[in-house]
Amino acid sequence: MAALRWAAALRWAPGQAARAAAGLLGRCSGRSYAAGWAESSPTFGFLLDIDGVLVRGHRVIPAALEAFHRLVNPQGQLRVPVVFVTNAGNILQHRKAQELSALLECKVEPDQVILSHSPMKLFSQYHDKRMLVSGQGPVVENARALGFRNVVTVDELRTAFPVLDMVDLERRPTATSVLRSDFPAIEGVLLLGEPVRWETSLQLITDVLLSNGNPGNGLVTAPYPHLPVLASNMDLLWMAEAKMPRFGHGTFLLCLEAIYQKLTGKELQYEALMGKPSLLTYQYAEALIRQQAERRGWTAPIQRLYAVGDNPMSDVCGANLFHQYLQMAERGVRAEQQGAGGSQEQLRSTTRSCTSILVCTGVYRPGEPGSKEPPFHGHRDFSFSPGLLQASHVVEDVQEAMRLAFHEEGWPW
Ligand SMILES: [Mg+2]
Repeated sequence: MAALRWAAALRWAPGQAARAAAGLLGRCSGRSYAAGWAESSPTFGFLLDIDGVLVRGHRVIPAALEAFHRLVNPQGQLRVPVVFVTNAGNILQHRKAQELSALLECKVEPDQVILSHSPMKLFSQYHDKRMLVSGQGPVVENARALGFRNVVTVDELRTAFPVLDMVDLERRPTATSVLRSDFPAIEGVLLLGEPVRWETSLQLITDVLLSNGNPGNGLVTAPYPHLPVLASNMDLLWMAEAKMPRFGHGTFLLCLEAIYQKLTGKELQYEALMGKPSLLTYQYAEALIRQQAERRGWTAPIQRLYAVGDNPMSDVCGANLFHQYLQMAERGVRAEQQGAGGSQEQLRSTTRSCTSILVCTGVYRPGEPGSKEPPFHGHRDFSFSPGLLQASHVVEDVQEAMRLAFHEEGWPW
């Protein structure tokens, strides 16, 4: 993979760090280590889920606040590399970083935040293509921030072709529309997160795929393979204030896949699926951790990652899949060293393990009477085995998780 091209754009802002330090010094008293005590370069880092681990709704979980007070050194800087990995996507990266900075009382840089669609930055071959973008909130800003320079929203497409969106009687055109022939063809589809008005998005995305990007023209035979589709956030459900879970973007994808399959007899194909538990997201996170360590001048290679989350289906499964990948990659590197082939990227990675830690402050409830076989809520393209949902450790909260990791690393907490 073109691994670190994007990483070169990461910037270190010493002024911001100094301001963060100044703001945090007052809260650093009472820690167990003495002033002037210096730690060596860390060889481990954290991938932290956000909802259910650090925050619930808009409120910080107290254990997370305490954990971050301990996670900064007397200069107010993080003692080890940390990235925040969330499946949320209908928000801007810098806005999420601002939210976390305020909640955790610790400066969080935008490039420490990985949203579900962040790895789309890697797909530069599509950045100049004319892409239909689906989602809600700041979809155009998000697509631009990911590198896409030529995006069309579902609403813009609907305006250009008003006869396509016919489910809602109130929104049907009242006058006869002139069919446009000057609308440039769509060349791909970005599914960033769950949209509103699903019937409109499902209809228009399907139209684009069946017409090879020219929804003003009907094609006798739909092209296959169809235009490239990049999608993020496969979560079927999520927990909000309601007692029962709510539809997530995974439910929208399920609808789109079912419609496409029914209409064409063929399977909707994804160029890439990202967000936890996809390997792509963890590879991206690993590279950001490595960049963060380099920026801080930590010379020791990062060898072990600890992934803390509250959702077995995304956080635990993703961390375990990544751990399996690392183990296989290491074997590949050994094979390479023995002259049997292997990728340069595998040779570059220094990470050897990813430990999954499940906390009990969010979705997961310990000791819940397990009904027989729970239904499979993962995505069609991901096959799960029950073992992948077993965390290496189950602890009460994120502070316990960090204490455990520091203890394993022989570092004072
Ligand atoms: Mg969560």
